[in-house]
Amino acid sequence: MLLTISTTHQPATDLGYLLHKNPASLQSFSLNFGQAHVFYTETSIERCTAALLLDINTVDLVRSKDSSISMDQYVNDRPYVASSFLSVALADVFGAALNGRCKQRPELVTSAIPLEAKITVIPSRKGEEWLRKLFEPLGYQVETLQHGLDAEHPEWGDSPYFTLTLRATCRLSELLTHLYVLIPVLDNAKHYWIGNDEVEKLLKRGSGWLQGHPERRQIAYNYLRHKHNLTRDALERLLTEDVQQEEDTASATEAEEADVTTSGSIIDVEPAVESVPAVEEKRTSLHEQRLDAALEVLKQSGARRVLDLGCGEGRLLKKLLQEKNFEHILGLDVSYHALELAQKRLHMERMAPRQRARITLLHGALTYRDKRLAGYDAAAVIEVIEHLDPARLSAFERVLFEFAHPATVIITTPNAEYNVKYETLDAGTFRHQDHRFEWTRTQFQDWAAQVAERSGYQVRFAPIGTEDTEVGAPSQMGVFSLRAANAEDEI
Ligand code: SAH
Repeated sequence: MLLTISTTHQPATDLGYLLHKNPASLQSFSLNFGQAHVFYTETSIERCTAALLLDINTVDLVRSKDSSISMDQYVNDRPYVASSFLSVALADVFGAALNGRCKQRPELVTSAIPLEAKITVIPSRKGEEWLRKLFEPLGYQVETLQHGLDAEHPEWGDSPYFTLTLRATCRLSELLTHLYVLIPVLDNAKHYWIGNDEVEKLLKRGSGWLQGHPERRQIAYNYLRHKHNLTRDALERLLTEDVQQEEDTASATEAEEADVTTSGSIIDVEPAVESVPAVEEKRTSLHEQRLDAALEVLKQSGARRVLDLGCGEGRLLKKLLQEKNFEHILGLDVSYHALELAQKRLHMERMAPRQRARITLLHGALTYRDKRLAGYDAAAVIEVIEHLDPARLSAFERVLFEFAHPATVIITTPNAEYNVKYETLDAGTFRHQDHRFEWTRTQFQDWAAQVAERSGYQVRFAPIGTEDTEVGAPSQMGVFSLRAANAEDEI
């Protein structure tokens, strides 16, 4: 089996540094299932190609008693087609490159360079379409050549074997990682025992791209050799560990933001004081509950195109992206720094192109009309209005309800009555220093009812967080729905 990797990044021979393999010599490696050979088929300044040739010792494999390999016959495609053997060889022989390490050319490791990978024979029993479904969302230009079953008997039709060429401008480590995971997914016949280790490997190598891949379920299922329980475990962890990572960055950014907010910036994710409330749900933070409440309303509204206004560092955007029903999501914030954090949180630079096309981040203010906000079905404005100057609320109202005019609007804001429950909050002060006001339930409901009346919406209210009998819930939500055009005439 043969894999070649080429670049036209100049000087192209730098590929030798990236792969840690000298272009001038042939190198061979003994693996426990055969020999791997690395050599270069071209080494000009303009283009350089490295080849990994894997020579599998199938007879040894069949004879070895203690291996878990079961090969029912001596004559099969194993020596010739790309399979999990090639992934193992790739990790063994190009380990440093796969892990993105290169002392001599560190800048190249992090650079996207023009790359081409060619696998001479790879099986795809679901045809060419499946090859495209796997690689195109990752940004590859895919070229395939399907081979006939027998050149002398064209009437026998096509074989499931393809020559596959992938082209992209990306980091070499990304290309190798994608190949490492997806070759066995295509071959669908792993040569070694599949256990929990494989889940770990999949999570490690799939980090940053698998979660957003439209075929992630099938990829995990094939990679884990159709083991339902392992697949379920992997998919769950793929989501939760991403959240874990996200929480790690969030705490780092919150520390960062604490500095920024004290210097007067308007960036705010969660009022600092809310982390030490006297009475508060332990399991799901109040902010999570707000986001989940908004998400639920958005899902039920049937919206396809959604605005997140004052999106901050993108916590809601992240949840929205995970719902396939939302075709397009636009996040807007006045803070450039918050948008940068959102970009990081969403891993936008590594997003699969189709996923990337679903999201737009806009730097802008909610108090100025912006034509780009028109044409959306719903808008979420989560913990934002209290950051606006009361004098600017009427501008905000027009921008959102008159000009953007989505059918559904969700606004959440703190319930000021609940502040007495926060032991660390002095009477008369706000939960966050950038808050310009905090409203009681009556104040919020009065304002919202007037806005709805003026703009042709109806509004309902819901508490967020555990309700206290006297002071209500810590946060409050208003859900505005556009009244049908002729509803008023009918009344
Ligand atoms: N909705 C996010 C962030 C809430 S914090 C979340 O729930 O996680 C409030 C956000 O509103 C901040 O990111 C702040 O930069 C933004 N903001 C404040 N005034 C704004 C304005 N006039 N236009 C747009 N965004 C604004």
